[in-house]
Amino acid sequence: MNTYTVINPATEEAIREVELADEPTTDRAIVAAHEAFQRWRHTAPGERARLLRAFADSVENHIDELADLEVANAGHTISNARWEAGNVRDVLEYFAGMPERLCGKQIPVEGGIDITFHEPLGVVGVIVPWNFPMPIAAWGFAPALAAGNTVVLKPAEVTPLTAMRLGELALEAGIPEGVLTIVPGKGSVVGGRFVTHPLVRKVVFTGSTEVGKRIMAGCASQVKNVTLELGGKNANIVFSDADVVAAAKAAPGGVFDNAGQDCCSRSRLLVHSDIYDDFMAALQESVSAFTCMNPLDEAADMGPLVTAAHRDSVAQYVNESDVAFSGSCPSGPGFWFPPTVIEVNDLKARHFNEEIFGPVLSVTRFTEEREAIEIVNNTDYGLSGSIWTSNLDRALRVSRAVDAGNLSVNSHSSVRYWTPFGGFKQSGLGRELGPDAVQAFTEEKNVFIAFEDN
Ligand code: NAP
Ligand code: MG
Repeated sequence: MNTYTVINPATEEAIREVELADEPTTDRAIVAAHEAFQRWRHTAPGERARLLRAFADSVENHIDELADLEVANAGHTISNARWEAGNVRDVLEYFAGMPERLCGKQIPVEGGIDITFHEPLGVVGVIVPWNFPMPIAAWGFAPALAAGNTVVLKPAEVTPLTAMRLGELALEAGIPEGVLTIVPGKGSVVGGRFVTHPLVRKVVFTGSTEVGKRIMAGCASQVKNVTLELGGKNANIVFSDADVVAAAKAAPGGVFDNAGQDCCSRSRLLVHSDIYDDFMAALQESVSAFTCMNPLDEAADMGPLVTAAHRDSVAQYVNESDVAFSGSCPSGPGFWFPPTVIEVNDLKARHFNEEIFGPVLSVTRFTEEREAIEIVNNTDYGLSGSIWTSNLDRALRVSRAVDAGNLSVNSHSSVRYWTPFGGFKQSGLGRELGPDAVQAFTEEKNVFIAFEDN
């Protein structure tokens, strides 16, 4: 039997052996999901809604258990992990409101009636990364199930525990067997099968741009529908008319939250040269106040990185750069890395251009608005970003000029389950969440009914 030993990244202790699915096991899960689809698609919309609400209630009753599990498996801080479990509940409740609202159109035609239907696709394969195992799973499965599809879901190999528990809670809440199946395993095996198996009609992939491209290419051979949520190298632009104190206080949270393992992490900071020195002094203070510690501590702002290999990859970027200042973190055991700030002396530097996915912030200065926009857009990514200014014209002008799917002004908040989320350029394809997310899990069917001549 092929198993994976799940490790607690804060202690390096083994916490569970998880059985990894092979290809035949994955195929069985897909076929079972296809059989369940024949019933689920015809389940009354109100009944589907009721079951999704029951699932949400069950998550609500297990918030603490799910949060503890995520702290142990992914090293998330306990306060973040509670928010993430709460997000799963909220996302389920939101999409539970959709089955009865999935209305088609009636289009005027001559000689008959023309109507449209939103038909579910069938089996949807959801592939989840390790950085936000719970919310990203729910953003895929909740709208898919609401639209009448069934789901097979592959968690990341290193962080499978909360998704597996959510699968159990779904069954306990009355979601029928085969409607949501968690298939832990390797990306190339389980995820690879989602791409090649003809009964999987859509793949929702969240992860690196590199793997996303391969998924898209693989899906092309069957013209399989894909949604891609990929990497980012997001900018935080601070203009000279910004509230410097507020911007410097918020900057660490915008990049170091979840130890920087966040596709929306604002890892490039552009500060106007008129305020640069004042800003950097204030930033140094707020970085030293950002606490990296035991993630079970309520006061923790960030915990460890997810694995030793990932910690080493982050360290490599930092080792080849001049560090301006850094915060503190515990010493081993655990995969710790302190919040680190690097001043950019070459805009082509690797740390300023590649997604590090760790607690590393690269800072540069600018003088013209146009110059800032040019620097920000000079990347293949386009996921999110922040603009700090007290000038409304500038806020709107720059928001329109930045090539990114999710921007925030005087804030770093970019994810709300009732608003659309997704990337421009190589940060992704399609949108998740928000009022239109369910449509992405349906095919629009047009039916013309001729009137009899009389
Ligand atoms: P990753 O290496 O691309 O893996 C993501 C998922 O894909 C994992 O479940 C992985 O399985 C699976 N996978 C790997 N190779 C595969 C293949 N050949 N076929 C099918 N599936 C395969 O990404 P990661 O390192 O876990 O996560 C970090 C990346 O995710 C970052 O680039 C980050 O920006 C991005 N991300 C994007 C968003 C967004 O919404 N835009 C959100 C969060 C994260 P294993 O378990 O075997 O690794
Ligand atoms: Mg990876």
